[in-house]
Amino acid sequence: MRNNIDGHFLLIGLMAYPIRHSLSPQMQNTIYSKLKVPYVYLAFEVDKKKLPDAIKGIRALGLRGSAVSMPNKQLVCQYLDKLTPAVEMSGACNTISNDNGVLTGYNTDGMGYMRMLKEANIDVIGKKITILGAGGVATAIVVQAALDGVKEITVFNQKDECYTKIEAIAKKLNQNTQCYVRVIDLADKDKLRKEISDSVVLCNATGVGMKPLEGKSLITDPTMLTPDLVVTDCIYSPRKTKLLEIAEQQGCKILNGIGMMLWQGAAQIKIWTGEDAPIEYVREQMGFND
Ligand code: NAD
Repeated sequence: MRNNIDGHFLLIGLMAYPIRHSLSPQMQNTIYSKLKVPYVYLAFEVDKKKLPDAIKGIRALGLRGSAVSMPNKQLVCQYLDKLTPAVEMSGACNTISNDNGVLTGYNTDGMGYMRMLKEANIDVIGKKITILGAGGVATAIVVQAALDGVKEITVFNQKDECYTKIEAIAKKLNQNTQCYVRVIDLADKDKLRKEISDSVVLCNATGVGMKPLEGKSLITDPTMLTPDLVVTDCIYSPRKTKLLEIAEQQGCKILNGIGMMLWQGAAQIKIWTGEDAPIEYVREQMGFND
């Protein structure tokens, strides 16, 4: 336990419900200790009902900021003073910064994904990518990729409520960015093959591949994946999903969700403390290299 916390330390929260299982407090506090910066990160069980008071608490107690997770990512936007373009576009915020009483909402999930690609020397700017999924994580990635300069994004999803939501976001992105985003039914396997073959990166942003769908993959025909394709999966448990296994066998470069998680946390640390997170140290300390 840390015994050096004095009256100058500032609190950073995590507001979500349920939240006790989260790895973020351990990850964030490990980094603050290593960086020797005066912050403490604690998880708070905050559901939709408690959220308005929790935000008032950030202001009243002078928290440096807070992470925000389900079920609050959308709802929280209305209580903040400023939103970044990515939050405006996606309608979802996972990070609040309190700068002298002004609360700004960021979304670092998409930033984390894009940074993970950059760190792996995968250049997607001006190119095309294909994304499986249209939920919270997929939306954050699509929006950040479009804002960062990816030229074309094809989203495949089943025809559920996520499909309708991302269609509306695609329309906004097509009107307001240089990127062209199209949304296609996942059931159309011919189009899936075609879009993947034109892409430099394929990203799984669905839960297919983790419990209770562990061992399953949305791509079942290995010939859809050629060695020049980079295949990424947002899932980090298991470390190697069925999709990544198939992709590796096909000779593709593969990346799991650990990098995205680490880099989205690093983006939060930059926002709250101004410091660069020691990513390799965290990987080691958290056992992510195992
Ligand atoms: P979500 O519930 O918002 O979206 C789930 C998406 O999966 C939807 O598009 C849905 O249509 C699709 N889907 C669900 N079941 C399906 C099925 N059987 N067949 C086809 N599509 C299906 O979830 P989310 O918050 O966007 O999370 C998506 C994934 O990202 C999860 O696996 C989660 O573990 C992972 N994740 C990773 C990180 C990270 O930092 N690496 C962070 C958060 C979430």
